Amino acid sequence: MSWFRRTEKGISTPTELKRETPDGLWYQCPECKNVMHTREHKNNSYTCIHCNYHEKVGSEVYFQLLFDEGQFEEKDANMTSGDPLHFVDTKAYPDRIKSTVAKSGLKDACRTAVGNMNGNPITISCMDFGFIGGSMGSVVGEKIARGIVYAIENKTPFLMISKSGGARMMEAGFSLMQMAKTSARLAQLDEAGLPYISLLTDPTTGGVTASYAMLGDFNIAEPGSLIGFAGPRIIKETIGKDLPKGFQTAEFVLEHGFLDFIVDRKDLKDKLSSLLTLMMKPA
Ligand SMILES: [Zn+2]
Repeated sequence: MSWFRRTEKGISTPTELKRETPDGLWYQCPECKNVMHTREHKNNSYTCIHCNYHEKVGSEVYFQLLFDEGQFEEKDANMTSGDPLHFVDTKAYPDRIKSTVAKSGLKDACRTAVGNMNGNPITISCMDFGFIGGSMGSVVGEKIARGIVYAIENKTPFLMISKSGGARMMEAGFSLMQMAKTSARLAQLDEAGLPYISLLTDPTTGGVTASYAMLGDFNIAEPGSLIGFAGPRIIKETIGKDLPKGFQTAEFVLEHGFLDFIVDRKDLKDKLSSLLTLMMKPA
């Protein structure tokens, strides 16, 4: 009886209709499962009012949070990726870029902006996980490198906000070259005597951890962020041992000396400002 049986197998939802958090008035914390008003959550810098879980947010939220009155000027806003390797997996790389641009409203996995933070000029590059897993390809590397050049030319400090699954597979060797390029620019920033602060957010892994994310004069992180090079499953399989509790959380990484401190997103702007006041030489 066809009305009794499913005529089609399974129920499939297209990716663009899947939502991690319910849209609308209420936000449910994935950590403590408590429900709060979305406005309350937003006013709390997208952290849970009950357990302080830091929801993943993108560049726009960080720019609004850090720049005075949310005012900033974006640099290289229209830079998009080429297809140097003519890479095809489940779809051709240019098609993947095109559909991700349409879906995310972003041009690539990083945005650079300049503006004032508590009255002092700053250059910020911020990654977006929503664009192919925040993967680092040529555009990400180039935007960061140019951001650092801008900081040097205009004598501003540089803040990098990382959130990444690592190098972008579709650009293979070209992605890996970004590690050297950004590191070289950071060395020039250092020679110019300008501060570099690296903020690691959930998650920061792979080639990003292995280059600019760990090169800060201060390396700081948001609470509970996953920070590592290879993922826990790979490490577990390689060493054939169970991993310690809390392995690769920001707190664990801090304990083992790889971070300077952990900063609550609600205090981020003021903490950064006081840190930079200490670091900037008087003009
Ligand atoms: Zn919570």
